[in-house]
Amino acid sequence: MDLKLPEDLANLSELDEKSLLEVLTGRFTQNLIYTYIGDILVAINPFKYLSIYEKEVSERYKCHEKKSLPPHIFAVADRAYQSMLGRLATGPKNQCIVISGESGAGKTESTKLLLRHIMELCKANSQLEQQILQVNPLLEAFGNAQTVMNDNSSRFGKYIQLRFQNSSVKGAKINEYLLEKSRVVHQDEGEQNFHIFYFMLAGISTEDKEIYGLLDPTRYRFGQEHMVQAWRVKYAEVCNAMDMVGFEEQEKVDMMTILAGILSLGNITFETTDSDALKVSEASRGWLKATAGQFGVQEEDLLKSLTCTTSVTRGEAIQRLHNQQQAEDARDSIAKVAYGRVFGWIVSKINELLAPKVDCDVELNEIGILDIFGFENFAVNRFEQLCINLANEQLQYFFNHVSPSYMENSFTHARFAPLFQDLFLTKPIGILSLLDEQSAFPQATDRDFVDKLNSKFKTAPNFEVVRNHTPLFTIVHYAGKVQYNASGFLEKNRDTIPANIRELFINSVTPLLSVLFAATISRTGTLMPRKAKVLLNVCVLFSVQHSLAVLMEKMFAAGPHFVRCIKPNRSKQPDQLDSKLVMDQLRYNGLMETIRIRRDGFSWRPAFKEFAERLVCRRENRDFLSSLHQIPLCLILDSVCCCVDYRARICRRRFLSLLAEIRRQRQAQRE
Ligand code: ATP
Ligand code: MG
Repeated sequence: MDLKLPEDLANLSELDEKSLLEVLTGRFTQNLIYTYIGDILVAINPFKYLSIYEKEVSERYKCHEKKSLPPHIFAVADRAYQSMLGRLATGPKNQCIVISGESGAGKTESTKLLLRHIMELCKANSQLEQQILQVNPLLEAFGNAQTVMNDNSSRFGKYIQLRFQNSSVKGAKINEYLLEKSRVVHQDEGEQNFHIFYFMLAGISTEDKEIYGLLDPTRYRFGQEHMVQAWRVKYAEVCNAMDMVGFEEQEKVDMMTILAGILSLGNITFETTDSDALKVSEASRGWLKATAGQFGVQEEDLLKSLTCTTSVTRGEAIQRLHNQQQAEDARDSIAKVAYGRVFGWIVSKINELLAPKVDCDVELNEIGILDIFGFENFAVNRFEQLCINLANEQLQYFFNHVSPSYMENSFTHARFAPLFQDLFLTKPIGILSLLDEQSAFPQATDRDFVDKLNSKFKTAPNFEVVRNHTPLFTIVHYAGKVQYNASGFLEKNRDTIPANIRELFINSVTPLLSVLFAATISRTGTLMPRKAKVLLNVCVLFSVQHSLAVLMEKMFAAGPHFVRCIKPNRSKQPDQLDSKLVMDQLRYNGLMETIRIRRDGFSWRPAFKEFAERLVCRRENRDFLSSLHQIPLCLILDSVCCCVDYRARICRRRFLSLLAEIRRQRQAQRE
């Protein structure tokens, strides 16, 4: 090994930003894209084929000693798998691998490599293995799109859980987060709609085209692109993946027909008549008919739901006619909601098909892989960015808590305050509660929401008031300041489906559509049968937060592994590394901070007394210790000292489990 290019940066005693960048750049130029920082794997996207994923390489990484082989994504998979089997240090059996990084950094590719290697490790039975491996192409077709950042950008986050009985995989479950539904109706310059639309238009047979009522690709507003040959093949792959995972023929037909309906719907335009009434433009008549056919609804009913809203007041139905803008908004919201529901249904269907088929008393262990958008800070940041950054704030919180260096950090300086706890979640005045509260008032405006934020948080350290007539506010996140534009926040947070649109689809003759709209979204974000109507108007941010909280709970109870993906350049070129871009990501990823803490940790060699005092000074430790008041403190600290190598790492989980063990022993003695 070249001494200047160490494989594990945590072993270096001297490490600053400059030397870190030098090491990473040096390794990258030698095609060494993986580097450890202690337990974290840093992965720089090579943007080219490397022979490091060949079969014989994955063979070498099976059940290997960490230090015996160079850093690799397969090594992370191997450690997670061995830990789940209890072959490594004691700890929880369930494992989670958190992959982070900005768009195009390589998270999804890493996820696929991890899955592949784990499947090889557990010598999965070939049918289940194939089903699990086909989940990704399927989800990518429906949930990924070409963006300026990445030709295959995931427009949703996912947590894939592999379920094991001893060493063999028995099933899988997917949780999806924050699908970017707005992409169905609007794509920025240089971006595309979800892949599936192009794959379908390019690859569909003439016969199926007729069944689904599809026309030439150039005719559709929602996906006009020059068709490329590769998409034809991709369509065949998606159909094949659906067959392999176990979708039925009729379900596929229904799904494709709904997609065709979304395309036709996008072409409907409106115009006002001389008498100021609104009608579908002459050129759109055919599209209206086609959409109604594809959605399996009556043409007049569809037209009505586009051109007016019906509300019921004191038992009386009141119709309000739409203006042109409102009709276009209704059209777009039908398209978004229909697509979102189809996507949600695909995920539920996968979960149903891949659910472990074992007796309920069989204990299953889990390896979860989280592939979720990185922190975002654009020129204009909207509701979607707030949701994504809230998720990242939670992930950073998780990282800090389980990272071995966390305790040292909290002794010295609490740089990573749990921002989301204070600013987002405090009841009743956190951002989440305020947004929920305002969303419940039909008359409330985005300005009202920002005014409330300003008055509640004007002195909060992580909040900045912006004086502007546009409703703006700034949050100082762990990764930097982000200014949010709250225009549209309340509407997006409500995300309600007007009653007449819901009724329209429930009465569809297409079974899938009727089922999708009869279901309602629960607070946990899952589809529920209709009788749970009380939960109809769930605010989006709340439901995002709820599903994140569930995820966090799972992750906190699991053995953590981290992969930090780095994008070397913005032009997606191999062998090019833009130092500033890389350095920014190291900061956003929290890696600079990790290294700094580790370095400080090395130089901090406290006397035992100091160590003990600081340990007991932390409130949560003190609370815990006070619940153990029968045990002499010195005994606890003595034991802690034995199990903690505080020079290299202080493992809080080990410490807490040790205390729990002492408590159990004491109780047993008393009984
Ligand atoms: P997004 O957040 O937009 O979904 P991402 O982090 O998931 O981005 P990927 O889609 O995984 O990014 O990677 C982007 C592209 O980079 C891939 O399509 C592939 O071309 C290339 N790439 C990523 N990782 C590797 C790798 N290990 N080897 C070769 N190419 C890679
Ligand atoms: Mg991705």
